[in-house]
Amino acid sequence: MEASTRVVIVGAGIVGCAVADHLTSMGWRDVVVLEQGPLFEAGGSTSHAPGLMFQTNPSKTMTDLAKYGVGRYAELEVDGQPCGYGVGGIEVAETPERWHDLKRKHGLATSWGLESCLISPEECAEKIPLLNSSKIRGGLFVPSDGIAKGVRACEAMARLATERGAKFHGETEVTGIETRNGRVRAVETDKGRIETELVVSCAGMWGPRIGRMVGMNVPLVPMQHQFAWTTPVAELAGETREVVHPILRHQDFSMYFRQRRDHYGIGTYEHRPMPVSPDDLGRKYRGRGKMPSILEFTPEDFEPSWREARELLPPLQDAELDVTMNGLFSFTPDGGPLLGESRDVKGFWIAEAVWVTHAIGVGRVMAEWITSGVPSIDIASADVHRFEPYSSSPAYILARSAQSFREVYDIIHPEQPMEEPRPLRASPFYPRQKELGAYFLEASGWERPHWYEANEPLLAGRDIPDREAWAGRYWSPIVGAEHQATRERVALYDMTSLKKAEVTGPGALAFLQRLTTGRLDKPAGKVAYTLMLDAAAGIRSDITVARLGEEHFQVGLNGPRDIEWMERHLPGDGSVQVRDITSGTCCVGVWGPSARDLVQSLSEDDFSNEAFGFFNARRAYLREVPVTALRLSYVGELGWEIYTTADLGLRLWDLLWKAGQSYGVIAGGRAAFNALRIEKGYRAWGADMTTEHDPFEAGLGFAVKLDGGDFVGKEALLERKREGPRRRLVCTMLDDPRVVVMGKEPVWCDGRAAGYVTSAAYGYTVGRSIAYAWVPPEHAEVGSKVEIEYFGERHPATVAEEPLFDPAMKRMRA
Ligand SMILES: Cc1cc2nc3c(=O)[nH]c(=O)nc-3n(C[C@H](O)[C@H](O)[C@H](O)COP(=O)(O)OP(=O)(O)OC[C@H]3O[C@@H](n4cnc5c(N)ncnc54)[C@H](O)[C@@H]3O)c2cc1C
Repeated sequence: MEASTRVVIVGAGIVGCAVADHLTSMGWRDVVVLEQGPLFEAGGSTSHAPGLMFQTNPSKTMTDLAKYGVGRYAELEVDGQPCGYGVGGIEVAETPERWHDLKRKHGLATSWGLESCLISPEECAEKIPLLNSSKIRGGLFVPSDGIAKGVRACEAMARLATERGAKFHGETEVTGIETRNGRVRAVETDKGRIETELVVSCAGMWGPRIGRMVGMNVPLVPMQHQFAWTTPVAELAGETREVVHPILRHQDFSMYFRQRRDHYGIGTYEHRPMPVSPDDLGRKYRGRGKMPSILEFTPEDFEPSWREARELLPPLQDAELDVTMNGLFSFTPDGGPLLGESRDVKGFWIAEAVWVTHAIGVGRVMAEWITSGVPSIDIASADVHRFEPYSSSPAYILARSAQSFREVYDIIHPEQPMEEPRPLRASPFYPRQKELGAYFLEASGWERPHWYEANEPLLAGRDIPDREAWAGRYWSPIVGAEHQATRERVALYDMTSLKKAEVTGPGALAFLQRLTTGRLDKPAGKVAYTLMLDAAAGIRSDITVARLGEEHFQVGLNGPRDIEWMERHLPGDGSVQVRDITSGTCCVGVWGPSARDLVQSLSEDDFSNEAFGFFNARRAYLREVPVTALRLSYVGELGWEIYTTADLGLRLWDLLWKAGQSYGVIAGGRAAFNALRIEKGYRAWGADMTTEHDPFEAGLGFAVKLDGGDFVGKEALLERKREGPRRRLVCTMLDDPRVVVMGKEPVWCDGRAAGYVTSAAYGYTVGRSIAYAWVPPEHAEVGSKVEIEYFGERHPATVAEEPLFDPAMKRMRA
């Protein structure tokens, strides 16, 4: 074995091979792949995956990964044998709810540029003659879905990588990773030691074990998943081709099917979650006996699914189960993959919890990321650093991974919160919110009031339009009343869940300046809204930076990834400290025309417009509570974000609530908050823009100062500016104000699916249904007519001048 190399990849499953293929295609030559099992039927999850590739997914990222993979599997071959079969995929609906949801999925597919169509039961049966068409209401057909031959694709990619210089060693177990000064130095194996500065762990469900070698927590759990091949099916007699029928999903029963030659494969998620400890997995598979990723089949768990299979595909009644398994693969707390570099050990990367469907896309993304620092698609939902610290606990990982197993094929509403473990994180205002009848949803573990039942009386005399069933879930007309009352008087919004960091030290200003697009060298007491870009000028986050002192900044962020990004860019000289202060602080937004009267009534400090201008920050006291007040508002009203330490939070709320009674104060929930910010045109990172967009396209050019010093992404941004926008984020209003959409719906321009909705809400002040959307630049003019598809129906909408509410900023600057 080599004494040294530039990169070691651990694992030659589909992910490891895809990473090796893409790294070498990007010019890397010294690549060594180590696999504890034999090449390429190595005994991991890839070895027995039947290879179904359904591309439709609520996540654009996952669909993009799958789309790329499907194309690549089709190109790969081994000795003339293809690695991909584009036979199409059908998801059938048995229940009315599922049929209705398939219309939404058809919309999702269209939004993400995936061709699909809804077909009748008879059309389904034409494509899959075994189907009992009387059992179903129809199906969603995706012509480009199909089958991947996982093991064959491993070999194909390994051959390509080998031609470019990579070395693959089977039956070589990685036993340790040496680090020095926070960097990878070498990999130890049972066959010797290799010096390297870069390790990419593609160890699948063994990932936590490899992670532990460098002290990194890898939040995944191997789960058993049942799969069986039948004996030959009479109706398929004589069929010798690998696969001709489209792959089939039966989500009402959490099942999937594929044909292979003259028999059928049946997979199910209908059974109980059966987790396994990563430490209990075998490691010494040598190509004989049982693979470590297969456990004893438990027929009693499979029985209901087998019954269902024979109802959906009656010709299976004459077949038997032939090869059966409880196969193992990885699940994570939110069902997404785990990609990225260790926070603490430079040069240690992971790419785990990845399906065959997404593996080749992941291979490309990882190679781009490692090579240039920037993946070409938004990977926020796959970034291993997206999790909060509590999600590293074994109890959480287990509970949530079991849930994500149960939900693999469920209909998940975009607002649906996790059910367990709850309540997990609660702001100091939580007891009062409960008293006010808060309807809580959950985000990043936080209990967040969506609306308050106590505000029901506010409905009197208001005409809040009702919603259809889907948009009306996790919603109440009270939302509309809270929205309007915020604009009429004053409301308290719990902003505690906002990620906050303190950045301090003599190098703090220069550090923040380098990471952001704005000009931050302002006197203490000023606040700036600015952007963090990646090196390709994609928007990594939008943040507010409050300068509280010469060397002291408080930064409002979008999540744990922002902290990780900052930490990664810290200068090595100790001149800057970044501290996540979220859990130790709380924040209440006091917003509305009477906000000043309310806050001033509690303070000796001067909250007048002259003394405390817009986008300023001050330390002050509200009665006995020391606060940091930032004069800004995400809802477009006069007011302040008021921060204090968690211990004083309840007191702060009580003071505001009591004094607020004279001003008609209400508590407002997240749903009103969201509608207010959309009406005001304020973007939400993640929904409205991601790293796939530049600031000019997103309408955030005002937050960019190109004439100042250098910042991450500046060079690329200049280039992007020269090239002009590739698409634009626009505000549209649906012509029919009764139609309220949810986000992610396709947008049709001149009869062509050309964009998608990002955020949407009913604007209870402007009295219109609003949908922000990405559209081609030529359709971005105010007045342009587009159509938004919602559950299969297209609704006309018009691009509007934004912001719809208070464009002159009279409210906020009052
Ligand atoms: C029954 C079943 C059905 C499935 N069906 C589908 C499907 O239809 N479609 C789909 O997209 N996905 C499917 N999956 C999921 C899919 O198989 C996996 O998600 C995918 O194969 C994971 O690939 P991987 O490369 O990450 O992991 P693996 O294939 O497990 O590869 C990891 C490799 O790392 C090696 N390794 C671990 N530790 C070490 C070490 N210390 N030293 C050296 N090597 C090490 C292992 O031996 C292993 O070969 C299915 C899974 C199962 C079990």
